[in-house]
Amino acid sequence: MPKSLFAFFTLAVLVPFASAAPGAVRCGKLLDVRVGRVLADQLIVFDPNGAITAVGPASSTALSGITPVDLSAATCLPGLIDVHTHLTGDPNSSGYQGLGISVPREAITGAKNARLTLRAGFTTVRNVGASSYTDVALRDGINAGDIEGPRMLVSGPPLGITGGHCDENLLPFEFHFKADGVADGPWPARAKVRETIKYGADVIKICASGGVLSKGDQPGTPQYTFEEMEAIAEEAHKLGRKVAAHAHGTQSIKDAIQAGIDSIEHSSLIDDEGIALAKKRGTYLVFDIYNDDFILQEGAKAGMLPESIEKEKKIGRLQRENFRRAWEAGVKMAFGTDAGVYPHGDNARQFAKMVEWGMKPVDAVQAATIKAADLIGWSEKVGAIETGHFADIIAVAGDPMSDVRVLESVKFVMKGGTIVRNDLGVR
Ligand SMILES: [Zn+2]
Repeated sequence: MPKSLFAFFTLAVLVPFASAAPGAVRCGKLLDVRVGRVLADQLIVFDPNGAITAVGPASSTALSGITPVDLSAATCLPGLIDVHTHLTGDPNSSGYQGLGISVPREAITGAKNARLTLRAGFTTVRNVGASSYTDVALRDGINAGDIEGPRMLVSGPPLGITGGHCDENLLPFEFHFKADGVADGPWPARAKVRETIKYGADVIKICASGGVLSKGDQPGTPQYTFEEMEAIAEEAHKLGRKVAAHAHGTQSIKDAIQAGIDSIEHSSLIDDEGIALAKKRGTYLVFDIYNDDFILQEGAKAGMLPESIEKEKKIGRLQRENFRRAWEAGVKMAFGTDAGVYPHGDNARQFAKMVEWGMKPVDAVQAATIKAADLIGWSEKVGAIETGHFADIIAVAGDPMSDVRVLESVKFVMKGGTIVRNDLGVR
């Protein structure tokens, strides 16, 4: 093969997946998520480490010999962030069929879902709950470049009370089985925080109230006490970790906020007092308001227990109404979907729900970018296209500010300067 032809083939094969670093992207439109404004004809330049070194109008931003990836027909946004995923779980791991899935198999499932999630435009996730540290292995495998996936913050096993939402309640007594994260009482709970951090947790996840997909409890019922949550929050913060609390119940939400928990997951039955407390303390609320549709339509087929479907029927609509009330009251909100309860890769379907229930498209996008980055403590590196941030860039064909659904079909994904999806065929 002539040398020039060989070079051509090498390039043609390598370009879609190879690191483009150092490099640049030229965007026909760029959504500045911080101010909610669309800028025309912008250039984003990044260094060999995949960090952004310059952003500005294409006419006045220096390129020094780099040919930019041409996204001049598209709208660019920062890579999206989902702060509530379960990458190592699929919908069919709920109910009794989940008992037959081994830990190594869950890890493999995680590798599949990490790729789906990244290719859907979510370049960062906070994974809140996985058994036996499969999420730690997944994060480390992605960071090492062994598999494709988003940047991950992981919790390891979620902490909870005996028989609670974060325990495994499907097996009878003679199996003597309890989930990895079960810890009762303030000191055992502190010890469990230390243990999960020892084995690699970036964030602590707890179950403050009952849940939908657990057997034998109710979403509104408190589980961890205020004293237990106060101990967990203090221990985690001392060790430099934030705490996310699963809490559907009215009282549990308030107890968790007052105990110093950083984010309330689900938040379904929050009342006015809870909303006022969240606002006063600056606590983030994470409302997973898309998956209700999936649970009611597909849950039974996916193996969810009949009692779970009944519980969802009772709280699904209330959760959406309370999302609207909390948003109108001005509480901080981050985008989290509970992916794993519904199929991974459909994360962006929640944007339309958020708009349907009171947000403007820009608010919903901010919840999945700058707000989510703030909650996870990564504001300096993800959630915005700015100097010093990772070149995590996605592109869509339409205008997400007039139709947020275009985010459901992301055409281009770049993570840290490397193209991972290129449906536009750009170079
Ligand atoms: Zn969850």
